[in-house]
This record gives sequence, structure tokens and C-alpha cells, in this order.
Amino acid sequence: FNVPAPKNEPVKAHAPGSPERIELQKTLKEFRSQEVDVPMYIGSEEVRTGNKKPMSPPHDHQHILGYFHEGDASHVEQAINAALGAKEAWESMQWEQRAAIFLKAADLLAGPYRAKINAATMLGQSKNAMQAEIDAACEFIDFLKFNVQYMTEIYAQQPPVSGDGVWNRLEQRPLEGFVFALTPFNFTAIAGNLPTSAAMMGNTIVWKPAYTQIYSAKVLMDVFKEAGVPDGVINLIYVDGPTAGEIIFNHPDFAGIHFTGSTGVFQHIWKTIGSNIYKYKSYPRIVGETGGKDFVIAHKSANPKAVAVGLSRGAFEFQGQKCSAASRAYIPSNIWEDVKKYLLEDLADMKMGPTEDFTNFINAVIDEKSFDKISNYITEAKSAEGVEVIAGGSFDKSKGYFIEPTVLVTKDPMYTTMQEEIFGPVLTIYVYNAEHFETALELVDQTSPYALTGAIFSTDRYAIELATQKLRNAAGNFYINDKPTGAVVGQQPFGGARASGTNDKAGSMINLLRWVSPRTIKETF
Ligand code: GLU
Repeated sequence: FNVPAPKNEPVKAHAPGSPERIELQKTLKEFRSQEVDVPMYIGSEEVRTGNKKPMSPPHDHQHILGYFHEGDASHVEQAINAALGAKEAWESMQWEQRAAIFLKAADLLAGPYRAKINAATMLGQSKNAMQAEIDAACEFIDFLKFNVQYMTEIYAQQPPVSGDGVWNRLEQRPLEGFVFALTPFNFTAIAGNLPTSAAMMGNTIVWKPAYTQIYSAKVLMDVFKEAGVPDGVINLIYVDGPTAGEIIFNHPDFAGIHFTGSTGVFQHIWKTIGSNIYKYKSYPRIVGETGGKDFVIAHKSANPKAVAVGLSRGAFEFQGQKCSAASRAYIPSNIWEDVKKYLLEDLADMKMGPTEDFTNFINAVIDEKSFDKISNYITEAKSAEGVEVIAGGSFDKSKGYFIEPTVLVTKDPMYTTMQEEIFGPVLTIYVYNAEHFETALELVDQTSPYALTGAIFSTDRYAIELATQKLRNAAGNFYINDKPTGAVVGQQPFGGARASGTNDKAGSMINLLRWVSPRTIKETF
């Protein structure tokens, strides 16, 4: 293929005194001291409605980073019209030209925008420097580069068989209409990937980010503009969900949704689309990654230290605000005391505080609503029968939304926090009789409705095989002797089934194929 072969973007360490650390600190200072004014981007316009909403760091909620201009129904209409207006030129552009634009965006992020996107993600979404670097810089650069590669492979596919006097072709058309990208706060890379992967295949987009991610969404939009994404191809709007949904899901040109967010919202959207199905020109594509209740199961042969590290990293990195976060664990009785000891040691080293201090590992959760929801689970656990809080358990929202990494041990494998998604730094552990591994596997499979990620720790090959087989429907990403998080683009295509989504693997050809509607052409001579 004639595009550069992608390689994963190396993660910069940001060691003390390194040029990248110095630049990042300078950028953080600059971003903290200014008040940025963030418009919506519709067609060629920067739209300032005057209905200004503040943006604050979750770890310092009284500080104002700037304001974004909230829109209303009329802006949703305008964004749809801009997307439809830009469609013909964009889809008839050679795919190589579209590829070049997104490769240029990757280059800008790797170079001049790296500190900016990292600083915006650290301040706006409370990630530490390393987490921001892994997410906003490296993962999004990888999404862009690997998707360009997959797109190339799609356009270069072998044509169907032709015979004497017949030439058969398959034309990869984009969808007819516009695509709606509804994106989450927890990964800047996902927020960037959902609009760009559909756009790459020739679609034009209405992009509505979570309100808590607008600060970094704006930086992404600056990158797209500078890279040469034409006006109207990606339209960025801030309008509340019901208002936007009312217009988008009633529109005849609605062609598909690319979604990451909660299961409840996705199911509501699916139902709405279903009840409006007669209104659309085509059956819309519905692609979504939703919730998770991701498991770690250890076998009696597992190395206790490896299990403990898998748990602490899997559960508490990114404050547990990952669909993939380890949040329920099944530990055999024979290694439990050792796992507990190492886990508590590891947690004792995790410092909590604002992201601007690079020694802090745990930062704030995203907003007050999340803080209240997560802390309620902890409060309930404290007085629940058969549940013990063995680490953390305190929380404080006076300055920022801080929740200590919390570990619960339950005697009841069906306890609420073994079943429900919490989306925060809370891990629940069930200690099972080490001789009853198969029963534990059944619990893993049947306890929650989700099936996103999961991990087995074992040094016994038979146990690994058994778990891989019995849990084949329990996770879309299954890890053997590793934490269930941290999928790398190009290496572990990401997505789950059951209540966790449509499993159209982010960062894969499977995903890109959802954004085309092929036309078969038979020509006879
Ligand atoms: N892809 C990320 C991981 O593997 C998780 C993304 C998410 O939370 O949606 O950890």
C-alpha cells in the first residue's frame, strides 16, 4: 500500500527536566492563567451564542479555565445543513487526499500540539501527565495513523470475480446523509476517533462532545482545521442531549451514530431510532461502545504479586473512569492474603491530588454528579452486611472531586458493586474457595449484563484454556496474565458485546466498514 506503515507513537516519559516536561508545564501555566472563549464550529463559522457556560478543572472546581458558547435547536439544524452541504466535495475527493489530511493531523498532534492537547486533557478532564500523554497524544495519533492504513486496505480490496465480457466492481461509497458522533469525557482519543474514523470514509459529521470534554475538543478542532479538514466536514456543537436528539433522530438524512457512553443512553437512542425508522432514507448505522463491569479472575496457581498489580493498575488508573476498568475480582482463598498484602502496599504508594503536581497518581473524578454517584456506593458499602472496606473509603469535594481508591471485600458475589457499573475508583473483591474454580468462572459469566473486558491470572495452562473457553462471551477484550485495560491501537482492537456495545472494534477495519455502504457495479461489454 502506498501510505506509510503505521507504528505506535512512543509514549514520552515527561521525566523531570526533560524538554517535553518543561513545555507541558509552560502550557499548563498559560492555560490556567487565561480564560479561553470557545465557540461552536459550524461550516466555516465560529458560532458565539453568548450563552456562556464555564469550564473548570474537576480537581479545582472554583477555577475558571474559560467559557464555551452553548447552542440550541437552531444550531443543530445549522450543523446538519453544513454537514450535508460539505458532503459532495468531501466524498468525491480522492481518498489519498483525505488520508493526507488525517496523517497531517497526527503529525500536528505529535509535534506542535502535543503539549496543548495534553495540558487541555490534564486540566479539563483531570488526568495526570502520563495518562494524558497515553490518551490524548499517543492513542489518538495511533487511531489516525492505523485507521488511515485500514482505510487504504479497504479501498485496495480485491474486486469481485469478473468473467468474459463482464467487469464487476465494488464501490465503497460513504453513507448517504450525515453521521452523528456522540463522544464521552473519559478519553480525548475516543472523542477524536469517533468523528474522524467516519469522516475518513467520506462522511460528514455532526459532533457533540460531553460538556466535560469541551476544553480538549476545542484543541482537537484547531488541529483538524490546521490539518486541512474542509469546513463543514466536522461540525462541533454544544447542545443539550434531548434538544440535539430531537432534531437529529427525526431527520431523514440521519445516516448513523458513532457513540461511546453509557448503556442507558445508548439503549434510549436505539429505541428512538427504532421508533423513527420510517422517517429515514436508509437504515441508520448504530455503532456504540457502552458500559462495562470488567472482571479479574485469578486461579489458585496465579502469582499473587502479578494479580495485585493487575488489580491496582486495572482498577485505579484514570480514577477507574474507563469502560474497561477492573471493578470486580474473584480471588482464590489460597493466595488471598498475599494478594491483599501486595495490593495494599501498591495503593499506599498512590498519591492523590491535582494534576499540575506531577507526583500525584490519582486525580479527581470528572464532576459532581459522578462524585455523588460513586461516593454513594461507598457509603452504602460501609454499612452493608458482609462487606468490608479494606482500603480507601473517604472522599471530599470541597476543592475538587477527590475519591480515594477504594477496595471492598464482599462475602456475597452478587453484591451490588459486583454487578453495577460505578465508573470510578472502586474495586470489589470476592474471595472464593480455591478448589472451586469452575464455579467462580460461572459467577464471572453470569453476574453482570456487560461483556467488555476481563482478565485471567494463572500459571496453569489448563486453567487458562478452561477460562478462555467458558468466558468466551463474557468479554470482547480478554487478557491472560495482564490487567484488563490499556488496549493499544493496532495491537488489541477494542470493544465488547452484551450490554457493552455493538463490538465494532475501535481502531480496526471492522469499524471503518460500518461507515461505508458499498455499491456493486456489473458492466457487460
Ligand atoms: N480503550 C481503553 C482501554 O483499553 C478503554 C476505553 C474506554 O474506557 O472506553 O483501557
